[in-house]
Amino acid sequence: MDQLADRADRRASLVGMSRLELADRLAAISVPEKQRRMRASQIWRWIYNRGVTDFDAMSDIARDLRADLDRHFFLARPEIVTEQISVDGTRKWLLRLSPDTNGRRQEIETVYIPEEDRGTLCISSQVGCTLTCSFCHTGTQRLVRNLTAGEIVGQILLARDRLAEWPDQLRSNPDPPPGGRFITNVVLMGMGEPLYNFDNVKTAMLIVSDGEGVSLSKRRITLSTSGVVPEIVRAGAEIGTMLAISLHATTDEIRNRLVPLNKKYPLVELLAACRAYPGLSNARRITFEYVMLKGVNDSLEDAKRLVKLLSGIPAKVNLIPFNPWPGTVYECSSWETIERFATVLNRSGYASPVRTPRGRDIMAACGQLKSASEKQRASARRSVLA
Ligand code: SAH
Ligand code: SF4
Repeated sequence: MDQLADRADRRASLVGMSRLELADRLAAISVPEKQRRMRASQIWRWIYNRGVTDFDAMSDIARDLRADLDRHFFLARPEIVTEQISVDGTRKWLLRLSPDTNGRRQEIETVYIPEEDRGTLCISSQVGCTLTCSFCHTGTQRLVRNLTAGEIVGQILLARDRLAEWPDQLRSNPDPPPGGRFITNVVLMGMGEPLYNFDNVKTAMLIVSDGEGVSLSKRRITLSTSGVVPEIVRAGAEIGTMLAISLHATTDEIRNRLVPLNKKYPLVELLAACRAYPGLSNARRITFEYVMLKGVNDSLEDAKRLVKLLSGIPAKVNLIPFNPWPGTVYECSSWETIERFATVLNRSGYASPVRTPRGRDIMAACGQLKSASEKQRASARRSVLA
């Protein structure tokens, strides 16, 4: 067993614990009650605001307590297996998690997409996905488990490490990002269905949006779901991020084929849940994602039906050119078709940007993620550890 595996067996990681849980853990190692809240706040800031990975760096905490913390806990980061950088600047990390109880170390992918006015980190919520959307590569992955809150937050901490975004790193950066941040937005659009991992996603997003830590506004976090209807309104009330719905079709017949979950929660129920999403307004709209599949869902009738379906919902539509993967039966619609489709939506008042595919050359674009190791071609990636 390697060193990290051994450590993980004996000590608990503090990354991903709520403030309350953190204070409870301090109680368990006999930190006096009067000090617990303050100590929890200090540790919180070191982890999420300063990005330290070592208790010894926590300079405002007494040496004895630092040693105690180190004996009982650690600050887990996923391990980078590979880092790939696309010709367009998109970065994809293949990350290895701490061992499961059976000793197995699962892998996930996280993607950073720099743009002119923002930097978006696309994070995973599960290893693989139990759903089997027919156009999605992740859905073909066999191994599936929920990520812990620590593993979800850990992706953001890791990305900040690699982008040199922590305050101490930024201070010495000769070329700091505009606005002082590389990661301005987080989207739960990597591997997995976030609403099937509700509690951990909730804990993680509350940590990420906490003003004393990573401090990303909930308006800059988007949770994307394939349509787990019973959890949608609850997500709005308890997590409160922006919402994206992977719609992809305008009739139940087609959606059943593309997103099999539709058989359980058909369009009318899905759209009713969207209408009930708390806090909707023109400034806070739902994003409907629509993957453009040649000859499947891309007709003008589809565009018109889409307008009708969305009627009354503050919405924008994200048209996603289909990103191919080995073995898929689908093809991407032509640019002409996508433009015609977008025009119908625009004329009806819906902003409908066509999402430029990013990182296709490193299989980092929407729906291309899959971490099963048999799929990785060593020649296609660059090992950062080398
Ligand atoms: N499971 C969640 C979030 C992850 S998928 C969900 O389905 O919403 C993120 C987005 O990528 C979804 O809208 C998904 O439908 C889309 N997607 C999946 N496969 C794709 C592909 N091959 N090309 C383009 N988009 C894809
Ligand atoms: Fe899972 Fe989303 Fe892919 Fe569907 S599109 S298989 S829900 S990750």
